[in-house]
Amino acid sequence: MKNFDIDKVRADFPLLKREVNGKPLVYLDNGATTQKPKVVIDAITGYYTDINSNVHRGVHYLSQISTDAFEVTRRKLRDFIHAKEDYEIIITKGTTDSINLVAQCYGKAFIQEGDEIVISAMEHHSNIVPWQMLCDEKGAVLRVIPMDKAGVLDQAVYAELLSAKTKIVAITYVSNALGTINPIKEMIQLAHQHGVPVLVDAAQAIQHMQLDVQDLDVDFLVFSGHKMYGPTGVGVLYGKEKWLNAMPPYQGGGDMIKDVTFAKTTYNELPFKFEAGTPNIEAGICLAAAIDYINDIGLDEIKAHEDALLAYATEKLNAIQGVRVIGTAAQKSSVLSFVVDGVHPYDIGVLLDKLGIAVRTGHHCAQPIMDQFEIPGTVRASLAMYNTKADIDTFIAGLNRALTMLL
Ligand code: PLP
Repeated sequence: MKNFDIDKVRADFPLLKREVNGKPLVYLDNGATTQKPKVVIDAITGYYTDINSNVHRGVHYLSQISTDAFEVTRRKLRDFIHAKEDYEIIITKGTTDSINLVAQCYGKAFIQEGDEIVISAMEHHSNIVPWQMLCDEKGAVLRVIPMDKAGVLDQAVYAELLSAKTKIVAITYVSNALGTINPIKEMIQLAHQHGVPVLVDAAQAIQHMQLDVQDLDVDFLVFSGHKMYGPTGVGVLYGKEKWLNAMPPYQGGGDMIKDVTFAKTTYNELPFKFEAGTPNIEAGICLAAAIDYINDIGLDEIKAHEDALLAYATEKLNAIQGVRVIGTAAQKSSVLSFVVDGVHPYDIGVLLDKLGIAVRTGHHCAQPIMDQFEIPGTVRASLAMYNTKADIDTFIAGLNRALTMLL
């Protein structure tokens, strides 16, 4: 791998050097949030040290610098996901905010009583609840694509669910709880054959693989900065221009207007129409450093490294008696969820934490998945570019130790 030097990558992330509970940290909770490279941390300090000022408002020097920097991020985001236009990139608070924006605004314009919204059985709560709220408000119906025991969506049922009543499909690219990579290109094509737009939740894909919104022909794509080595409190809604123009604004306030009188307000153009109020300026500007960092290393290199690590970890985990991996699709990315018969996931998480190993336990904001597998939750180890085989070995040794105490 040409640019991929794992020692150098690890050295770029200051937090990885710390100890937890007297042990070197093994951070395997990357699905929840990733650590930040020093370039991002420095960018945040640099922002407050040198240019802090509001965007899109002042004529003064600093305001112009921060506005330019904010717009540089937008252009980098456009290039990162291969969007056609800068103004198709709406800068939001994160994935959840982006999905709520689409549910509210697309919902206002296009959803009526009796219409159907299709989601899948493996969605994060943030791609379920906003649609449920919309259905309640409008008298629309939520339809769910089922999945099998491996955590693979049933494409035949999906095809049957699409009808003249379907007004939008909202699916995850990669499941945060199972790791399944869905065949979204084919799923988008099928929806388009019925004239139905598709929202793809890329919260667990953007940091692991190349995405090209034009090649996918996706209508809306959403993700969060904090899961891609960037700051918290910033995220993206990519939307095709034709949809964004056809939707009413989300929130009212500064920046999203052209003219305000007490009689009437006219709205600003894209992307500002959807960006009311002062954004998270610091996070917006500093997300650019995370994009540069990922680009310097290369998503293909990152993917190859993480795929090899996932295969290694899966093999080691399967060799432990009593372990049942939840999510065994052929196409997976960076997530290892599992249960151990007779042991509560929480107890495993607590014991691993004592050893300095950070994993997540619980339902991972995907309760319907846990219901389908009839389990209270899983232990989830999720990978990032800086994880190593040594991390996996420590995790497996820790798990074995925890299990001898718990079983
Ligand atoms: N969708 C998926 C697949 C996720 O994994 C997450 C976060 O874990 C979200 C949506 C929500 O992201 P955020 O909390 O950053 O808005």
